[in-house]
Amino acid sequence: MRPTKAVIHLENLKHNIRTLMQHTAAERRRNAPRGGDARSRPLFCVAVKADAYGHGACPVAETALSVGTEYLGIATVSEGRRLREHGIQAPILLFGLTSPDEFHEIVHLRLAPFVAEAGYIAELNRVAAGAGRKLGVHLKVDTGMGRIGCRPDEALELARGIAAAGNLHLNGICTHFPVADTPNSTFTRKQASTLTDVVAEIKAAGIDPGLVHAANSAAVLEYPEAWFDMVRPGIAVYGYYPSGDQERLLPLKPVMEFCSTVVFIKRVPKGTGISYGLSYRSSRDTTIATVPAGYGDGFNRLLSNQGEVLIRGKRYPIVGRICMDQFMVDVGTDAEVQLGDPVTLFGPDRAGPNAEDVANLTGTIAYEVICSPTGRVPRLCR
Ligand SMILES: *Cc1c(COP(=O)(O)O)cnc(C)c1O
Repeated sequence: MRPTKAVIHLENLKHNIRTLMQHTAAERRRNAPRGGDARSRPLFCVAVKADAYGHGACPVAETALSVGTEYLGIATVSEGRRLREHGIQAPILLFGLTSPDEFHEIVHLRLAPFVAEAGYIAELNRVAAGAGRKLGVHLKVDTGMGRIGCRPDEALELARGIAAAGNLHLNGICTHFPVADTPNSTFTRKQASTLTDVVAEIKAAGIDPGLVHAANSAAVLEYPEAWFDMVRPGIAVYGYYPSGDQERLLPLKPVMEFCSTVVFIKRVPKGTGISYGLSYRSSRDTTIATVPAGYGDGFNRLLSNQGEVLIRGKRYPIVGRICMDQFMVDVGTDAEVQLGDPVTLFGPDRAGPNAEDVANLTGTIAYEVICSPTGRVPRLCR
């Protein structure tokens, strides 16, 4: 196997899911009326879209299900096909909208799509009828995200349409939060109360709304009033907080370790230029190690002369420009670093950089960093 790989620490994934489950269960117990039944945790729909945020959808889905996750969340029909072909039987929510030429497959794969508009609903019903199936759908209400979803005042009418459609079943009502990663967000609280109102209206019309759900990781961490029947965490399951603004109350562990090995070492005199553009010049006699990973593997070129890597428990600077397939590290004069040494580009080890550190250096978020290892990087589950 190539030395450059993404090691997926499934124990950390289990730890994170269990931590979130315990967090929600504890909060529900705390808020249960005295002497009344403590409601257990909400259902969990773990987001495994985008190849489980780059970690590998099938092993992540299996592991999530093994610790009690009830639902999986995906963005595209092809992601659902992969999970079903792998033998995964759990209910799968399709978060994204798609074009009608994929409706047949949605029905065939038993995906539960988000719906938000009458024409889409009618066409899904027609395709489900043609297949002789009944398809569960979740009505998405836009309470402030501005992405997909019907207006709150349209929800009842659409719920009626779904209830009346012979081959659809209303399995849920849901929404999504754009600013739940900011503490004390009245906007998020208002969204949750808008969803509550919509659900009440639908119930009053004699329609069963199914599962009510809204919370992404940020809301799972901070807004118990937004948990409803089910939560949909993604990033926290992979060991990262949604943003730097949140208090780090839960001990999440990064799941992905992007790593490689030292494949070449050389001594260079002071003033030696390194890599394209010779943008780095050694300020002293030193040792340069070459690592066979680059932007072709999803290691961001903006880390050129910026980032650090972990070798033998110590951080060393990336020097010169990151190339497509390789980059260089100044490992200094003490000759501690040897050919073949493991190199961590980012990962769970607190001594080295994690995906959030990489994100801060490259002007993005941990979400994008963990999604970035490309197809040529083997994923190796531990
Ligand atoms: C991606 C996604 C989530 C998970 O979001 P995180 O911020 O990663 O927790 C939840 N719901 C929907 C609709 C999503 O698209």
